[in-house]
Formats: sequence, structure tokens, C-alpha cells
Amino acid sequence: MRHPKVLNSVLTAALGLGLAASLGAAPAVAADTDRAVTAGTVTAAYAGSSEEAKANKAFFDAVVKSVAKKRAANPGAAAVTVVYSASNAPSFRTQIARSTQIWNSSVVNVRLVEGSNPDFRYYEGNDSRGSYASTDGHGSGYIFLDYRQNQQYNSTRVTAHETGHVLGLPDHYSGPCSELMSGGGPGTSCQNAQPNAQERSRVDQLWRNGLTSAFKTF
Ligand SMILES: [Zn+2]
Repeated sequence: MRHPKVLNSVLTAALGLGLAASLGAAPAVAADTDRAVTAGTVTAAYAGSSEEAKANKAFFDAVVKSVAKKRAANPGAAAVTVVYSASNAPSFRTQIARSTQIWNSSVVNVRLVEGSNPDFRYYEGNDSRGSYASTDGHGSGYIFLDYRQNQQYNSTRVTAHETGHVLGLPDHYSGPCSELMSGGGPGTSCQNAQPNAQERSRVDQLWRNGLTSAFKTF
């Protein structure tokens, strides 16, 4: 389950956009691990390493490129829509729907919609690294939801946090519970699944004017 097979059609779009260079790197499997206090196995690599930041960027990059490909085919579309598939994470349908609702009511410049031909997919399973957002070897993005971690932590918060990476937010583990991107930092008692005002405005800033500003961040 660590490397689910994800469609590689995004690469073609990336080539068309002249951004292929950034896809040449190795699969960014280190990704985001929201396991701050799980099992006492915190390693130095965990807390916001450059490897994780790179993986988060690679993930957002993949999502943006997939969205861009569709927009190129339909340039008149008013809102930026990011399409996801939850079919590979059946146990988390409720949390994914709730996360979508949270984000769609929190930001205005980008919308999450479940559908076919997705820009990213949710997967579920067991992974000692916990939940994360990552990319496969072909530049496609996916979110992995770990069973154990989602029992320890508020599962909607975990899902909404990982989805925050879809929308371009980095981790900030040292932040308080009121911050969604602090992830596992505030501990298992944290129940907040809502982004704070700064996180909302950051997402709207990234997706302002369609994809233009999202691309500028890379
Ligand atoms: Zn994260």
C-alpha cells in the first residue's frame, strides 16, 4: 500500500507546460508524516525535514499540473476545481466528505469535488509512517490514510490536514491545535478539524486568479 499505482497521465500535461524538469526527481515517498507522538518512535527526520517539505511540494505540484491540464481543455471554467477519488479509501468516506465540506466552506478560490478522472486519490491501509500526502514515480498525487493513526488522532482532522497539502499548505508541527497544519504536533487530544484564518487566506492566495498564483509558488 505504500506505493499505490496511480495514473501517470499527468506527466504529459507537465511536459506541455514546460515543467517537466521538476518531475525528474525520485519518487517523493518520504512525504508528510503526521505521527508526532505516536508509539514513541519520533525520529529526527520527522519534524519538518527538507525531505518532507520537498515531498509536500512535489505533491502539490502534481495536483496543480493535473488541474492545469483540464483547465487547458476548458479555459472558460470560472472556478478552479480539484477532483478527487475516494474509491480506494472506503473506510474513510465520512471523513473525506467532511473534510471536503470543511475546505469548501473555508475558501473561495478553489473547490474540491469527488468525481471521475481525479487529480488525486485517497488510499487507506497500514503504514508505520502514518498518514501522508505524496507522489508516485510518475508525478501523480495521492493521500494515504493510516488505520492506526486515524484511531489515535481525530480522523477528520487527519483527513482535513492531509487535504490541506492538496491545496498547497506546508506542515507546521509546532503550531497549536487551532491550526490544522500543525498535524500531530498538539497530540492526540486535539480535535480541531478546521483551518484557522491564516490557513484559509493562504489557500485563497495560492489559488487566486485561477492557477497562476499556485504555479508561482514553485
Ligand atoms: Zn502534513
